[in-house]
Amino acid sequence: MINRYFGTILYRSIFAIFLSLGYSPTIFAKFEQPKLIVGIVVDQMRWDYLSYYYNKFSDGGLKRILSEGYSFNNTMINYVPSITAIGHTSVYTGSVPSLHGIAGNYFAINDKSTYCCTDKTVKSIGSENSKAGKMSPHNMLSTTIGDQLKISTDFKSKVIGIALKDRAAILPAGHSADAAYWWDDSAGHFITSSYYMDKLPDWVNQFNKANHTKPKFNIKTSNLGVEMTFKMAQAALENENLGKHDVTDMLTVSISSTDAIGHTYSTRGKENEEVYLTLDKGISEFLKILDKQVGKKNYLVFLTADHGAVHNYNYMNQHKIPGGGWNYDKTVTELNAHLKAKYGINNIVLFEDNYQMYLDDSLIINNNLKKQDIIDESIEYLKRDSNFLYVVDNEYASISTVPSFIKEKIINGYNRQRSGEITIIPRAGYFGVSHPSTSYKGTSHGEWNPYDAHIPFLMMGWNVPHGESFKANYIVDIAPTICAMLHIQMPNSCIGNAQNFE
Ligand code: ZN
Repeated sequence: MINRYFGTILYRSIFAIFLSLGYSPTIFAKFEQPKLIVGIVVDQMRWDYLSYYYNKFSDGGLKRILSEGYSFNNTMINYVPSITAIGHTSVYTGSVPSLHGIAGNYFAINDKSTYCCTDKTVKSIGSENSKAGKMSPHNMLSTTIGDQLKISTDFKSKVIGIALKDRAAILPAGHSADAAYWWDDSAGHFITSSYYMDKLPDWVNQFNKANHTKPKFNIKTSNLGVEMTFKMAQAALENENLGKHDVTDMLTVSISSTDAIGHTYSTRGKENEEVYLTLDKGISEFLKILDKQVGKKNYLVFLTADHGAVHNYNYMNQHKIPGGGWNYDKTVTELNAHLKAKYGINNIVLFEDNYQMYLDDSLIINNNLKKQDIIDESIEYLKRDSNFLYVVDNEYASISTVPSFIKEKIINGYNRQRSGEITIIPRAGYFGVSHPSTSYKGTSHGEWNPYDAHIPFLMMGWNVPHGESFKANYIVDIAPTICAMLHIQMPNSCIGNAQNFE
């Protein structure tokens, strides 16, 4: 009797503690996970393409995700510059360049412009004498969703990354990924690097044999690039049995052709429309395959972008909307001439990239110059350009007179060891172009403005209700939201917050 009495008291006390913590025992005991996570990043997809092309989408593609799933309609990039390698890293790490270290497609290491994924210690697998496979995630300083998933299952989960662009396959998949595959233009097929494996799996060799394009064909600027990426994703899904293991697997897919076509033909016109309709068709077919292989409610898919794109300034000007092109090479040449006249030294500015000026540290030290003097002089000079709203000393961004919204983006995007010393914030609609002219037809990205920073964030499938939210959230909230749903720890440099479905 006594034992039973105390047993009841004990049970009631534990129950009361659970309730006071906001849990019911049934929820607390339930840590379910989907069989597969699929992350899709559409390179350069503006959020408003969802509505701009909506009537032309098929029922099974983006319309299906919008009608069955959930749309966060106000997801913004919270750093500058809004560039491909950074976007892909920030989506999957929930972090920003100052912390995850991917400060551009290219950034400076020891005064040298360095490609984000270049790794001289590894070699190409699948195109033996090519440089295209000398790549790895070694410059990324944070874990990704995939790394955290692997840690949570004692590395039993399979994680694979696929894209035409190496950086879009490698950075999302993470450090501990089983594989990342990207396209080698010179070979005309998918390759990987010895970071992951010593030889391509048989299924990849077979895929390459069946889908080879002629070498040097630029698949990235063709709609075939979209089709090829989904085809490869399907092959990985089937041959690696993703979503059929005891633990959750993950597949990251990035669509690179949307960016290459956007850069060339801009945000409007038949080329951009065609690539987005090809994307929609690819999504529709891929979702059907996921339904079949993994089961409708057993996979969780999210779709987002690494950045948006600005409307072409000539097109805007035709409609009286201000905009223009900034010839960054000319600015560097002129600034270097100004610094030479003042200090007697050539080429103190190494290069411009990411809307930043990169100074030559060793040249400054070897000539006994004070770096702060050079920065101050450069900023004073650059401020004379009326197309620049702000020119900011990155190290002192926090005390600059810049709207706090933009200031925070500069601080988040500034990696002390790898970024340039000075950030340029041009007026809206005015962006960097290598040869600006009245016949320029393309687009670009990299700025803080909504055209570059407002991205889609859609989810569908496992435990995702139908709905939409207009609450402000950020690119860095994507990773913690996925991790929270899985009840796994967020990546180790994550600064974002898990978002609730409203
Ligand atoms: Zn991009």
